[in-house]
Amino acid sequence: MSSINTGIEWTDKTWNPTTGCDKVSPGCLHCYAEALTKRFPNNFKNGFDLTLYPERLTEPLKWRTPSRIFVNSMSDLFHEKVPLDFIQKVFKVIQATPHHIYQILTKRPERLVELAPHLEFHKNIWLGVSVENQSYVSRVDLLRQVPVNVRFLSCEPLLGSLNLDLTDIHWVIVGGESGQKHRSMKIDWAKEIRAQCQKAEVAFFFKQIGGRTSKSGGKLLDGKIWDEMPEAWKEHQKEWGKSLRNLSVKKGILELIA
Ligand code: SF4
Repeated sequence: MSSINTGIEWTDKTWNPTTGCDKVSPGCLHCYAEALTKRFPNNFKNGFDLTLYPERLTEPLKWRTPSRIFVNSMSDLFHEKVPLDFIQKVFKVIQATPHHIYQILTKRPERLVELAPHLEFHKNIWLGVSVENQSYVSRVDLLRQVPVNVRFLSCEPLLGSLNLDLTDIHWVIVGGESGQKHRSMKIDWAKEIRAQCQKAEVAFFFKQIGGRTSKSGGKLLDGKIWDEMPEAWKEHQKEWGKSLRNLSVKKGILELIA
C-alpha cells in the first residue's frame, strides 16, 4: 500500500514513502498501521519494520488534482531509522508539487526539531504532533519551534483530559479510539478541547466518538458535525482551485531525488 484514497475525513490521499514503525507512547498501543501490516502481509514485505521505498518518492508528481496528502499514514517520517537525506528528498517532492497540501504527523517532535535546520518548510507543508494525554503536551512546545506555515494537533486516540497551550497552533483534530479493545473517550474531554479551540480561535475537527467500530459512536458533538479546517486550506483552494493553471513543476526534480 503506497498511496491510496483514504477514508480519513481530514485528508484526500495517503502517500507512504516509508512504512513500519516502533511504538513510542500510549497512543500507539492499538496502532492502526501495524494492524494493517498484519492483515495484508503480502503488501508489507518487512512486516511492521521500518522500510524505505525510494521508488514511491515521485508518486505525487503524477497526481494532477490538487489534494490534501497525508504523508506516512503507515509510519512516522521522523522515525530515527529514516535518514535525513531521504526526508530531504520527500521535502523536495513537496516543493515541486505546490498544488498539493502535505500533512505530516509525528510522535517524534524531538527529531523533527533536531533536523529542522536542514529542512525547508514550504508553504504547502502542514506539520502536526499527536497528543493523546496530558503527559505528551510537551510535543506541542517542540512543534512550535519549527518554522512552518500550519501547525496542527491530532488528539486521537484521546485518552484523557487535555489542557492545551494553543499559541501558534492552527488546527486540532480530536477522535476516540475504535476497535475490539478500544479505550473509551469521555465526551467531556472532547468538549473541553473544543472550548479551548473556540477561545483561541483555532479550527476544530471532531473525527469520531469511537467504540467497537469507527462508526459505533457517530461523529456528532452536541448534535453537530465539527469539520473545521485551517484558514490556509481556504487560501490554498482559492489559489489552486481544481485546475493546475498555476502549476510549474520544477525542472530537474527527478535528478534531485534520484
Ligand atoms: S508512531 Fe504512529 S505509526 Fe508509529 S507505532 Fe505509533 S501510532 Fe503506529
